[in-house]
Amino acid sequence: MEVIAGGSSMRADVLSDTTNQPATSVNRPRLKRSIEFWDPSGTVMLISGSVAFRIHQEPLGCHSLIFRKLFSIPRWQDVADQLDDCPIIRLPDNPFELNLLLRAVLNTDRSVIGNTGSHARPKFSDVAAVVRLGYKYEMDDIWNDALDKVTPFFTATFPNWDSLEHYMARAPFEIGLRDAIVAVSLAHLTGAITMLPLAFYMCCQLEGDLLKGFARNGRRERLCLDDQIKCASGKELLERGAALVLFRVFRVYQGKVRPQVSCCKRAHLEAFRRCLSRFKDGIKDEVKNALDSQLDRIDNIQKFCPNCLAALRERELEARREVWEELPLYFGVGTQCWPTDAGDI
Ligand SMILES: [Zn+2]
Repeated sequence: MEVIAGGSSMRADVLSDTTNQPATSVNRPRLKRSIEFWDPSGTVMLISGSVAFRIHQEPLGCHSLIFRKLFSIPRWQDVADQLDDCPIIRLPDNPFELNLLLRAVLNTDRSVIGNTGSHARPKFSDVAAVVRLGYKYEMDDIWNDALDKVTPFFTATFPNWDSLEHYMARAPFEIGLRDAIVAVSLAHLTGAITMLPLAFYMCCQLEGDLLKGFARNGRRERLCLDDQIKCASGKELLERGAALVLFRVFRVYQGKVRPQVSCCKRAHLEAFRRCLSRFKDGIKDEVKNALDSQLDRIDNIQKFCPNCLAALRERELEARREVWEELPLYFGVGTQCWPTDAGDI
């Protein structure tokens, strides 16, 4: 971890500029005081990018083992550079994300990790930033609290959703498919490997972003090569799994349909023929989302009577659950934390 105690007189000049004193050079980068975290009586100044945060060191040391060790060094302030008679610590983090972390540290706004009762949903990316920075600075209570907000979403229990899209819309935070790339890195970082199967599954729904990743807060979020390979092979297995779901629903034994749908035999045989034809070459991209309900994509599904349709939906749910149980195996993830029999398959 990089914590740099130091600074420069140039930055001091520029900070002075924010107090309406003339800057010595217009070409120098401007250092701005944080609007949210600037206490004139603060005992330490954190500088991140072009933003300076002046706070008291006690809460920082209380939460962070890293800072606690630093502050325990006798007269540490004497070796640190000073700005406005305050010791400064330069941090390499994004100032927006550091601001989020300080909200958790100073308890001024816990909404980012959902502790204020606010109705506004935090962004997954904000919660993830708190996990990542909290972990980095060894703030165990803070990153664990934040991680606890996202792990129920990346569940190991079959979520029984209509569609992944609806499941994401109901999440306690704003989340998009691209965030799954971040979720994978959080799982690796914190050891929360139970998050991985669903995170990888979501990654498989990405198109170009899966390989090239995306930029956020000055950082490129992308899967490592090993994880890209896992997703590529997992996608193939998902395509096969999606085909098997409908096959399991409509399979016909020796020309006979399942007894539960015998009154709609003609519709059943027709559906079986159509679902088989859907999995010919060229439509694979439509079926990688194997955990969504697919029955309504069968053209003649409305020709079944209500009782038979209900039986089909029940059978499909069972088949989708079987895919879910195999999800860790699709992506080469250990099944130790997966509460199914998948590990025995
Ligand atoms: Zn029927």
